[in-house]
Amino acid sequence: MKVMKFGGTSVGSPQRMQDVSKLITADGEPRFVVLSAMSGTTNTLVEIADYLYKKNPEGANTVINALEQKYLQHLQELYTTDEWRQRTEDFVRDVFTSLRDMTKGLFTSFEEKVILAQGEILSTNMVNNYMQEQGIKAVLLSALDIVRTDKNAEPDFNYIREKTIAQLEANPGNDVYITQGFICRNAYGEIDNLLRGGSDYTACLIGAAIQAEEIQIWTDIDGMHNNDPRLVEGTEPVRQLYFEEAAELAYFGAKILHPTCIQPAKFAGVPVRLLNTMDPSAPGTIINNRMHRGTIKAVAAKSGITCIAIQSSRMLLASGFLSKVFEIFETYKTSIDVITTSEVGVSVTIDNTTNLSLIVDELKKYGTVTVESNMCIVCVVGDLSSKNVGFETIATDALKQIPVRMISYGGSAHNISFVVAETDKQRTLQALQKTLFAYNDHVRRPS
Ligand code: ADP
Ligand code: ASP
Ligand code: MG
Repeated sequence: MKVMKFGGTSVGSPQRMQDVSKLITADGEPRFVVLSAMSGTTNTLVEIADYLYKKNPEGANTVINALEQKYLQHLQELYTTDEWRQRTEDFVRDVFTSLRDMTKGLFTSFEEKVILAQGEILSTNMVNNYMQEQGIKAVLLSALDIVRTDKNAEPDFNYIREKTIAQLEANPGNDVYITQGFICRNAYGEIDNLLRGGSDYTACLIGAAIQAEEIQIWTDIDGMHNNDPRLVEGTEPVRQLYFEEAAELAYFGAKILHPTCIQPAKFAGVPVRLLNTMDPSAPGTIINNRMHRGTIKAVAAKSGITCIAIQSSRMLLASGFLSKVFEIFETYKTSIDVITTSEVGVSVTIDNTTNLSLIVDELKKYGTVTVESNMCIVCVVGDLSSKNVGFETIATDALKQIPVRMISYGGSAHNISFVVAETDKQRTLQALQKTLFAYNDHVRRPS
């Protein structure tokens, strides 16, 4: 069975919902379908939660009422029969009544997560009801019964596999199995989520759990581009990526994929295809186990990075120095992305600054600590093994006009990372585009 995930813009209007329903059922094969909230909805739900954190229930209710009107209007356009329109309207009104109820009491991160879950709950119910109206054999499975995270807030894969298979067996003979992306329960059974953009992760977890034939991520662009199309002109789709390459691009900022969604697909060996809902026949990008030798594929950038440098001529060469440094990050559950070392110091980057001041305090026991915020990691991905003599120089050459704070090469055979100031991000990406992909193909070999 194939898994098909449709993102926010792909289900962003009644017309789109009707179009994706056709796409899903086009070849008559059974499908597992993962849907995001309609575009803009999760942001609006975040805004509602924000009003409630700020103890402004009136502000929250104004936003809730406006969102409800929008959804009620969508129902007028989505259904042709009064029966399904009314059934869905009853459901939608209940959702908004429960949101209004939540403005009256105590507000904590628990309530916030319940609010954030409503976008996917609304979209999946709307599409499922539309399919029922169309006579399609569809069933809606609640992601809250399938997807769970463990005590480390990581997906509990064995649980997900067991529950997904059990739900499929309990509902035989359907053509479409629909579930919500993004939302899940945590280890304590509370409603939670897989972080923003998490519907991709749901799709890949389910695809891996059922050993799907393919996981399709349908979005608003024709596959993974060789650079960020929001910042660089002339980017082009990359037709094929190796799992590791896609995982690096996603982790280092290619927004088209959730940062960690490729991992489960990679472990299960299930190919992931990125496709364009607005142009379904475009080839998109296939992500699989095939490695194209001798090619640089794409560039991505991750913002919100903080660099921490620890300098200690006294300590660095003493054995155990690095492990003490890492232990501090481990204690504060802060993962390190990029690391560079020299005889007199070590520099690392982090993106989670929740415990920054505590970390810095402890690091000061071991050396002089400098912190630089507003940095970004720019990551070049492809066959960057040391056997490809000259590949890293093509990338560094592109940046000869840009102050580079850190360079990391050799950590994997697929990545070279540069840390630059956020203010230099766009021109760094543009410079790399020009140097790496100037010949209008996404394959670059050193001459
Ligand atoms: P969805 O709502 O379908 O999950 P997203 O907005 O999360 O869609 O992801 C698609 C968007 O990712 C594209 O519209 C594009 O602007 C952005 N994007 C950033 N980097 C890339 C890239 N390298 N290739 C393709 N799209 C990218
Ligand atoms: N609706 C969620 C978000 O906007 C999840 C997703 O779309 O992937 O982040
Ligand atoms: Mg997304």
